[in-house]
Amino acid sequence: MVVTRFAPSPTGYLHIGGLRTALFNWLFARKNNGKFRLRIEDTDLSRNKQEAVDAIIKAFNWTGLNYDDEVVFQSERFDIYKKYINELLKKGLAYKCYLTKEELEKIREAKLKGEKPPIDIRKYRDFKGELDKPYVIRFKTPLEGKICFEDGVKGKQCVDASEIEDFVIARSDGTPTYNFVVVIDDKEMGMSDIIRGDDHLRNTFKQLLIYKAFGWDVPNFYHVPMIHNEKGAKMSKRDGAVDVMEYKKEGYLPEALLNFLVRLGWSYGDQEIFSIEEMINLFDPKDINKAPSRFNKEKLDWLNSHYIKNSPNERIERILRDDFGVDIVNHDKKEILIDELKERVKTLKEMAREIEKILTPPSEYNEKAIKKFLKEDAINNLREFIEFLKDKDPKLPPDWHKVMDEFLKQKEIKPKFLMPPLRIAMVGDTKGIDLAALLSVLGKEEVIKRVNTLLSKI
Ligand code: GLU
Repeated sequence: MVVTRFAPSPTGYLHIGGLRTALFNWLFARKNNGKFRLRIEDTDLSRNKQEAVDAIIKAFNWTGLNYDDEVVFQSERFDIYKKYINELLKKGLAYKCYLTKEELEKIREAKLKGEKPPIDIRKYRDFKGELDKPYVIRFKTPLEGKICFEDGVKGKQCVDASEIEDFVIARSDGTPTYNFVVVIDDKEMGMSDIIRGDDHLRNTFKQLLIYKAFGWDVPNFYHVPMIHNEKGAKMSKRDGAVDVMEYKKEGYLPEALLNFLVRLGWSYGDQEIFSIEEMINLFDPKDINKAPSRFNKEKLDWLNSHYIKNSPNERIERILRDDFGVDIVNHDKKEILIDELKERVKTLKEMAREIEKILTPPSEYNEKAIKKFLKEDAINNLREFIEFLKDKDPKLPPDWHKVMDEFLKQKEIKPKFLMPPLRIAMVGDTKGIDLAALLSVLGKEEVIKRVNTLLSKI
């Protein structure tokens, strides 16, 4: 059975790169009818546990990634780790190291200078007694040979064992370290495949040694190259949103973000648009790219507009209300409004702003537009047009087209002497959705009111 996991260190939010890692693991588990599990690596942060976990789960819920079984918290598993550490001590595969801070500092300094350390880091490796001094527990790494594994993305990976010193598996306060607990947990949680950032590639060698020490099978590893910013450097907060929930606030749809992320580092021919089902069917971690990928905001926007266009209006309506406080649920022309804007916006935040602009009477008018379009005769046209409207009853956009055409014909004037002035009266500017749609959304009463307001001001 395929079992994968996402194992974030709880930092208070779900990082965009973390979501991609989670997505890859989730897709692979779902594709194989396996399990996708969540583990919170909170050995350092147990105090803020709940908040940090809530943030991750909230982001998961938004994106629709679901996990199986209970969430595992490392902070609740210290007894288990202790048991395994004792087992290694008993087997002579780990040892208590009594080197002092000062001694370690000397070793570190010598190494920095490229000199031979005055004290051997492995000083206590074969020490048999017990001292009444603080100690850490170190793992006995092999003194020679190679440590190798087959990475599912990068191919065969090897280091000389001599490069890996006897690393600490338990600190002097007894708490276990990352490279140790991760192996215990992955084993106990039944991991078959581990897809994670390639910043963990070097850790894997240490982890392999621990698997071997316990005689356990090693899962498959896939190390995914990082996501770079548009300039080719590592993504950081300065590059804009790294918190997944920021994308919700900015009006992105979760499926657009997932589609965007799946393509960062993975491809399937030239295809750009993938439904969740397609992703599940087509994803294979073996196809993950070997080179880092670049974050491309334009592409995200493009995908988002694609998904907005293809979303049912009721869903958009709900998001507009819940996330942006723009409530058009009871507006009788909401379908026209959303259909028009769906074709134009990149985000739902942008849509919300456009709707507010339409539904709120303009508080000011674009000076340039006024100068250009509101000459004497245009003002008269507006006045006459609202007279003309009085005994008409246009409702839908085609009705409004008809009314405007009739008016133009009767007056024998060109559209530019009516349409731009009308639009200015409605929204204060000459840009926006189709004019007939705009008038239809506002309704006859409001159209007349806004024309009168403009006329009273000039
Ligand atoms: N907690 C680690 C991180 O957030 C992940 C460890 C792993 O995937 O093995 O980078």
